[in-house]
Amino acid sequence: MPLEAGRKLARRIVETLQAAGYIAYWVGGCVRDRILGLTPKDYDVASSAVPEQILRLFPDAEMIGASFGVVQVRDAATGGVVEVATFRSESSYRDGRHPEQIRYETDARLDATRRDFTINALFYDPVKDEVIDFVGGQEDLHAGIVRAIGVPRERFEEDHLRLLRAVRFAARFGYEIEPRTMEALRELAPKIVRIAGERLHDEMSLILTGANAALALRLLRKTGLLVALLPELPDGQGERLALLRGPVSMPLAWAALLRGVSDVAAPMRRFRFSHAEKEQCIGLLKGEAQLDRVQEMPVAELKRFLRVPNFNEHLELHRASRQAVGENLAIYEHIQGLLAQWTVKDLWPPALLNGDDLLQLGLLPGPHFREILNRVENAQLEGRITTRSQAIALALTQSGGDVHR
Ligand code: ATP
Ligand code: MG
Repeated sequence: MPLEAGRKLARRIVETLQAAGYIAYWVGGCVRDRILGLTPKDYDVASSAVPEQILRLFPDAEMIGASFGVVQVRDAATGGVVEVATFRSESSYRDGRHPEQIRYETDARLDATRRDFTINALFYDPVKDEVIDFVGGQEDLHAGIVRAIGVPRERFEEDHLRLLRAVRFAARFGYEIEPRTMEALRELAPKIVRIAGERLHDEMSLILTGANAALALRLLRKTGLLVALLPELPDGQGERLALLRGPVSMPLAWAALLRGVSDVAAPMRRFRFSHAEKEQCIGLLKGEAQLDRVQEMPVAELKRFLRVPNFNEHLELHRASRQAVGENLAIYEHIQGLLAQWTVKDLWPPALLNGDDLLQLGLLPGPHFREILNRVENAQLEGRITTRSQAIALALTQSGGDVHR
């Protein structure tokens, strides 16, 4: 979504709601990010209007999350999307996962105090250009503190996902976790396992791919969340994650974390990895072993490996792994050298032959065509052949006389 479109729409929504006599503010992440001078990912509006009243003002809007009464407003012209939620208080989370009761409120203060951390509970009135702060969130933002609203222990008991969210926000912004919040976090960390695997997967993925993975890892360890979530990770393992550089994809982050685990299938099941994610992650872990023997690899095999779409991730995992155990980066540098030296044409030379050519040569079609063409390409990648006639000669010797006529 174009961000500017989201911001403009969010402003228009607040104006419309206020003009109709309701209280309406921007809330949560967008207010926090705005104060920090960061670009918000999206804009959320909170209001004293209930969903039916919101829908009356925005006839094209849609209810999302039926039981939660959140309304999504779209601006078809600009592509802007904003979620508008009614102020609410939540109570009695019997299972530490889902609130049992949600009550709509007209008092913004109650909506602020049901939120998780002070820095996430700020309102902003874009019409008056005014921050509304019931929880001391501005002070904590300026001091760099993640502080649970209310009694930390109770808040983490209510919803155990907040345990991980505290780490996520502390790591993302490089903030301290307020001492009482930290104490409750360490005490209740073992309860994190009660959260559904999918949600753990999503929250952990955000943490692991965040800008500050090294700090995230330290906090996950310090709070006891890591040992609760990943008991099979041997002590001292996981450092690779902290050493990854650049934007880190989800499979790469998980691969770096899981690298020290002997049986990765079990945690992947627990965290409900999709089939594709499992494949990508295992592919990366296997690739690392492959990179270790790069110097003995035939050139064609090496070039094919360098051609895999996420090769840079393989290389990055390898580098982080070597560095984590204080080993030299000879292979990494060797590969960097090759990548600098080999052109696109060296890695992807135009094919000298195709299946039709083999038919023309009178070869009997079948699955071995692929094998023959592979060998021809190998020879080409290794510089053993460069012309079409050499390729034909090679194909004919490879075909073992398996020819028509
Ligand atoms: P991000 O930029 O990562 O999206 P955010 O602050 O917008 O950060 P969201 O997960 O999108 O975080 O949630 C939006 C807001 O809803 C939060 O700022 C917070 O006020 C509230 N919130 C979200 N999850 C919880 C929770 N588990 N408990 C209490 N409040 C929550
Ligand atoms: Mg958000």
